Amino acid sequence: MKNNEQKVMLTGVRPSGNLTLGNYLGAIKNFVTRQAQYKSYIFVADLHAITSPRDPAELRIAVNDCIAMYLACGVDPEQTIVFRQSDVLEHGIMGFIMTFQTHMGELSRMTQFKLKSQNVGKNGIDTGLFVYPPLMSADILLYNTDIVPVGLDQQQHVELTRDLAQRFNKRYGDTFNEPDVYIAPVGNKILNLQNPTEKMNKSDGPNPGTIFLMDDLKLVRKKIMSAVTDSESVVRFDEEAKPGISNLISILAATTGESIESIEKRFVGHGYGEFKREVADAVCNLIGNIQTKHQQFKNPDVLDAILTAGAERARIVAAETLNRARVALGLK
Ligand code: ATP
Ligand code: MG
Repeated sequence: MKNNEQKVMLTGVRPSGNLTLGNYLGAIKNFVTRQAQYKSYIFVADLHAITSPRDPAELRIAVNDCIAMYLACGVDPEQTIVFRQSDVLEHGIMGFIMTFQTHMGELSRMTQFKLKSQNVGKNGIDTGLFVYPPLMSADILLYNTDIVPVGLDQQQHVELTRDLAQRFNKRYGDTFNEPDVYIAPVGNKILNLQNPTEKMNKSDGPNPGTIFLMDDLKLVRKKIMSAVTDSESVVRFDEEAKPGISNLISILAATTGESIESIEKRFVGHGYGEFKREVADAVCNLIGNIQTKHQQFKNPDVLDAILTAGAERARIVAAETLNRARVALGLK
């Protein structure tokens, strides 16, 4: 049994665009508030970004932007190991090994695969979209992770990781730690403000329904004030009947820490305009602070130094775990 200080927390983001309010509230914030309690790892999942063709120059910039944004959101490189996935080559081999533990049926049932394979180009579905969950399992298992804070959309992939770890351990002997998912009670699935039945995605690119952490604050306010609601004019949490208002309540609750019930009570008898203004104030306050800090972390030399140090530390643990898996498999 590990004691609390040895427990490991890990999370990552795909550098597939600028980070959104959803990425912050669903994953990064929950990591940052716990980073001191665990041995913590956060990485930029650049191998996951090439599951579909990407412009190399843009990808390089996106990785640095993502690291700078982690730091601006409060990730502390003194406490947390910050690294780029592709710098630790063990991810590739371990991804390969974990792919061979999965069944086609399991991967076909992944909700993200089903959703993302709906909009495919003329060449059909990229294999990367199909096989990235076992690579994600490798990312998690390499560090003996105990807890993975992610948004609701990634819960299924962490559960798959548990299944694969169990399967491997049963077949080849105790090798991997079985991780638990951490899903925040509020803010685990922030929806697109213009289409509040769909998740807010960074890869959707600029659009009026997605709030990016780097958006100009006037634009953030405009996006919130023009969010789709309903004709009832009652601030009440009901995801089925009132997805737009419920989404804004979740955003306010996750941003300020106030409970949903308390928000509902405070806005009895008040209109949507007033409510939206308060949501906009809270989000602009949050994002404004992140943007101020982001200015300090843009120096590429500083980012490089953090990534180099992070990769060195990550590699030691990843190599140990990969070695264990190779011995278990009879590859060594
Ligand atoms: P992409 O469109 O490239 O899939 P994404 O916005 O879904 O981008 P990911 O890199 O896939 O972001 O996920 C990073 C983390 O952010 C994951 O933990 C994921 O669960 C979380 N996350 C993503 N979108 C949201 C959202 N709308 N609400 C809450 N959490 C989210
Ligand atoms: Mg995603």
